[in-house]
Amino acid sequence: MNLMVFGAPGAGKGTQAKFLIEKYGIPQISTGDILRAAIADKTAMGMEAKKFMDEGKLVPDSTIIGIIKDRLAQDDCKNGFILDGFPRTLPQAEALRDLMNDMNISLDKVISLNVPDSLIVGRITGRRVCPDCGASFHVEFNPSKVEDICDYCGGKLMVRKDDNAETVKSRLGAYHEQTAPLIAFYKDMGVMVELDGTKDVGEVTKDMFKAIG
Ligand code: ADP
Ligand code: AMP
Repeated sequence: MNLMVFGAPGAGKGTQAKFLIEKYGIPQISTGDILRAAIADKTAMGMEAKKFMDEGKLVPDSTIIGIIKDRLAQDDCKNGFILDGFPRTLPQAEALRDLMNDMNISLDKVISLNVPDSLIVGRITGRRVCPDCGASFHVEFNPSKVEDICDYCGGKLMVRKDDNAETVKSRLGAYHEQTAPLIAFYKDMGVMVELDGTKDVGEVTKDMFKAIG
């Protein structure tokens, strides 16, 4: 099963991806997590990407497409994968289409989580993430069982550097200008499923599993 979770920053992509991993046993490929790991490792690519991420801008396509080419070639992607936060531009979507064609595989579903901008700021400023496994919680809407501790791996939860009200504005701007046009791209491909992402986490999960069938 080759899946994609799609939506604005803070729409709930990472949260829902964790349930897809549990159900289908396929890996989540989050370009944001891969970039943050590169920053933690202080690689040249990470240091370059950091400048864009701190400002809420998109990292250049060439960097992102290179990351995805390497990642999809890995063994654990053989039975499928969940793309999270990729693609975010039309050139990225076209590169993915060409890459998947070369690999003789196709996208089964794109799950779009629709959430209005007015709800995004509250979601992002209350987000707590696990630096070890990438899981995402919310202080009010989706708290971890034990305060500040990851339910999945026991890691110590933290606030992402780019999760502040100022950066959210530019990230939403980038989403509307560069990423939202992909909705039409995937509708044309016949794989797009649009869900109401404003429902509770569990309700969205139910709708998502129903849509995947
Ligand atoms: P994304 O991966 O799309 O950037 P996340 O999955 O990290 O978004 O979710 C953003 C924030 O919103 C997190 O704090 C998460 O716990 C919270 N969240 C996710 N889904 C919902 C939901 N359906 N209702 C309320 N809050 C949610
Ligand atoms: P995310 O974890 O998905 O919220 O991504 C965090 C940041 O990483 C974004 O604001 C971008 O700066 C960068 N990023 C992640 N994925 C991509 C992508 N596919 N294209 C460009 N930039 C990305």
